[in-house]
Amino acid sequence: MFVGHYGPALALAGGRKGPSLAVACVAVQLVDFAWSGALLAGIEHARVVPGFTALSPLDLYDMPYTHALASAFAWAAGAALLYGVVTRAWVAAALVGVCVISHWLLDWVVHKPDLILWGDVKVGLGLWDAPAAGVAAEFGVLALGFVAYMTRTAPKSRLGAVAPWAFFALLAAMAVINWLGPTPPDSAAVAMSALAVYVLTAVLAAGLDRVRTARPAG
Ligand SMILES: [Zn+2]
Repeated sequence: MFVGHYGPALALAGGRKGPSLAVACVAVQLVDFAWSGALLAGIEHARVVPGFTALSPLDLYDMPYTHALASAFAWAAGAALLYGVVTRAWVAAALVGVCVISHWLLDWVVHKPDLILWGDVKVGLGLWDAPAAGVAAEFGVLALGFVAYMTRTAPKSRLGAVAPWAFFALLAAMAVINWLGPTPPDSAAVAMSALAVYVLTAVLAAGLDRVRTARPAG
């Protein structure tokens, strides 16, 4: 999955006890940050195969350290522990862990069976090969998170009222560009552009954190 990963971030961030949206946006893509680095370092492997699935040309044949279920739990536990030790906000820390693990679950919905469940067993429901369902899942999860975020947070200013819509529109546009744009030349190009998108999204989320606040109780 791509921008749909931001659904859980939007759903869990910005409230009175949750992490900031910026932290949540990094958390939901944490294993993909690691995956991009592992690809560039030659630790994990993928190849671009035009038409590999209807919505993604990536053959993700080797990613044991970032996208196995056990490793996803390890990344989640590590992130939650680090966040908790630094902030002492353990509810938010647990939500950071949930954000990290959500990545594997959403990837499981759309990927071909390339996610290690255990040992040699690889799983994936493959919605990327059912374009209508894949697109619906991507936007559906993102939209649900957006509604939750807008319900739980309130604007501090006029900018705070408008900015989330721009954020949502930009994510949707990046998804469409990803699906309809040119096929990337190789997996390194995919890793670099993924990193750029994830960093940009986190920076914009930090901007949203400044212009919106948790709604008061009741
Ligand atoms: Zn992933």
